[in-house]
Amino acid sequence: MIEQKLKNFFGYDTFRPLQKEIVEHVLSGRDTLVLMPTGGGKSLCYQLPALVLEGMAVVVSPLIALMKDQVDALLSNGISAAFINSSISAFEIDTIQESARSGALKILYVAPERLSMGFFLNFLRDTPISFFAIDEAHCISEWGHDFRPEYRNLKNLRDKFLKIPVVALTATATSRVRDDILAQLKMTDYKVFSSSFNRPNLHYSVLPKKNTFDSLVKLLGKYPDESVIIYCFSRKETESVAESLVLAGFSALPYHAGLDGEVRQETQERFIRDDVAIIVATIAFGMGIDKPDVRLVVHYGLPKSVEGYYQETGRAGRDGLPAECVLFFSPADRMKQEVFLREISDPAERDNGYRKLEQISAYGEISGCRREYLLRYFGEPWERQNCGTCDRCLAPSATFDGTLIAQKILSAIIRTGSAFGAKHVIDVLLGRSLAKVLERGHDRITVFGIAKDFSEEFLRQIIAQLIEKGLVEKASGQYPILKVTSVGMVFLRDRASISLREPQEVVGVDEEAEKSVDYDQELYARLRALRKQLADKRGWPPYVVCGNASLEEMAVYFPQSRDSLSRISGIGQQKLEQWGDLFLGVIVDYAREKGISEKPKVGSVSRAPVRKAALVGTTYGETKKMLLDKVPLAEIARRRGMVIGTIASHVEKLMETDPNLDIDYLKPETERFDEILSAFREDEKWALSPARERLGGELSYDELRIFRLFIRR
Ligand code: ADP
Ligand code: MG
Ligand code: ZN
Repeated sequence: MIEQKLKNFFGYDTFRPLQKEIVEHVLSGRDTLVLMPTGGGKSLCYQLPALVLEGMAVVVSPLIALMKDQVDALLSNGISAAFINSSISAFEIDTIQESARSGALKILYVAPERLSMGFFLNFLRDTPISFFAIDEAHCISEWGHDFRPEYRNLKNLRDKFLKIPVVALTATATSRVRDDILAQLKMTDYKVFSSSFNRPNLHYSVLPKKNTFDSLVKLLGKYPDESVIIYCFSRKETESVAESLVLAGFSALPYHAGLDGEVRQETQERFIRDDVAIIVATIAFGMGIDKPDVRLVVHYGLPKSVEGYYQETGRAGRDGLPAECVLFFSPADRMKQEVFLREISDPAERDNGYRKLEQISAYGEISGCRREYLLRYFGEPWERQNCGTCDRCLAPSATFDGTLIAQKILSAIIRTGSAFGAKHVIDVLLGRSLAKVLERGHDRITVFGIAKDFSEEFLRQIIAQLIEKGLVEKASGQYPILKVTSVGMVFLRDRASISLREPQEVVGVDEEAEKSVDYDQELYARLRALRKQLADKRGWPPYVVCGNASLEEMAVYFPQSRDSLSRISGIGQQKLEQWGDLFLGVIVDYAREKGISEKPKVGSVSRAPVRKAALVGTTYGETKKMLLDKVPLAEIARRRGMVIGTIASHVEKLMETDPNLDIDYLKPETERFDEILSAFREDEKWALSPARERLGGELSYDELRIFRLFIRR
């Protein structure tokens, strides 16, 4: 029966791991604690029981900005829901409470502070309530990373509503926070459901921080028009990277705490509504974002901790489709952060900072599986040899007999008195006559220069492996001094041998490698355009209409009847009624045009996520079609959810391949045509920014780009 509801209301064929067990437990009327990573599908764990149980479920959520989207998403699935927070009027609150009392509401979202207001509590007492769901429950704990004082109001829930069960949900994994949640909410007869924190659809990789911007541009080329978050170290960096991206033709905006609140709000909105594809942000961005279809999260600089990295990369691929997490790493970045840590006066806090920095640097340096490293960090065992979706596992390196080099390194650590970090030990091994080496007489010990034939990077990676294998340990704190462990001592004494992985030159972005897709991209682009239109009309984020996974399935199976459309994942009853015919219209037309027939989707088999990045080709095709229809530029941009600059660059590209393309209708009116022409002519490359300067900076890059289309012919 609950499977039926899952399909009818949410459009899903199967439960995600643990969802069914959790739903059943909540239905049994007992307390529940749900620990699941971001994107695991926690919402469904309370939304589905809310539909089945008598009365109304009250959902506490800290993210006011998200409540409306969440409620819209429920309404679009035909589930009666509402929200109450400070953003709505007293009159609206009355209306909502009225319909709640009459039993018409199944789910009510509220901000936590409501639960300290007397009249609101009175209202709840008058209303039949099925259970309380506390979303982002870690906010109640001061031990967590996101404590919210308003959550303290929840401590008395148990006393005030003795008989009503509580469901707490969080993506926080630490046991300290978990115990705190149980204690604060006074849970007694409860069950804890904890799913793996592995995110199988995320691909992890580390790239060297060399020619970083070029690598970034290549990387972004794999994800045209898709949502991307790029995290930077400083506010200044977010702005310069965003600007460079825009100049390179991408749709990007910066986001950081130094921007005006309104600007930040608007940027966030534009991202959620697919009006801008790329956000270049400091870590301040992302807390209030539930966007399910972020395809790529890039760290342009080193994050502060492994927890932070896991959280931030966790924002990728919530919809379960493949997504990529790339860290640009260099030891220099680590030093940049050490400078900040040195300023911290509390020694415990400072050491903690160093330890965290050490751990995240190790993530960048390890030669083993990145996924395994992340999971082990959270205390989760990982038994698989090869995860298949991280750079290390995809390009496993050969092993070699590392006995000799290991012995050399261990001796160098011992001979220099076990008092130095990797840098110094390497300098000695390489025989570098640096002042600090000479001063200490380290040029006169036997290990000086014994590893001359290797590169510094090679030695660094070997040392990292020796640490991983437990032969060497690195002190935490300001001075990461290396010491040989007792295991290392035994290794030396017994003249044991050791096999090590061949250090790898970190490979750059491989553009060609990931360009195969198994869905029809052109149809996908058309369906996206339709979704954007439907969403804009209602002021919704596009994903509320339906997720990318649904559109991809449509572009695989070409469903041409209501019946087959209803088999698409994410299409429930309500969506079928409301938009089914519109989507079918697009698919039927397209299939006829291309002579494609429907492919049966058998039973509930979900498509394997073999999807890789979409080809750039079709995004141009989509623009071209609108150009042929003489759609104004601004309108193309709006329909496609892109900025005008991106569309203008599409037009440029299209003109290159088809110089006869008729774009005269785009020609801007101006009296300055000759002036603009000569401004461009002064530079043989017809570059935008010098021309803009010559014209006194009055015209925008977008305008200039369009002018250039005409005068260049
Ligand atoms: P969380 O709150 O755990 O981060 P959400 O509840 O926001 O995750 O769900 C993440 C995504 O997974 C959403 O896009 C949702 O539609 C999708 N999802 C949830 N359950 C299922 C399911 N059983 N089948 C397919 N998709 C699902
Ligand atoms: Mg959630
Ligand atoms: Zn791996």
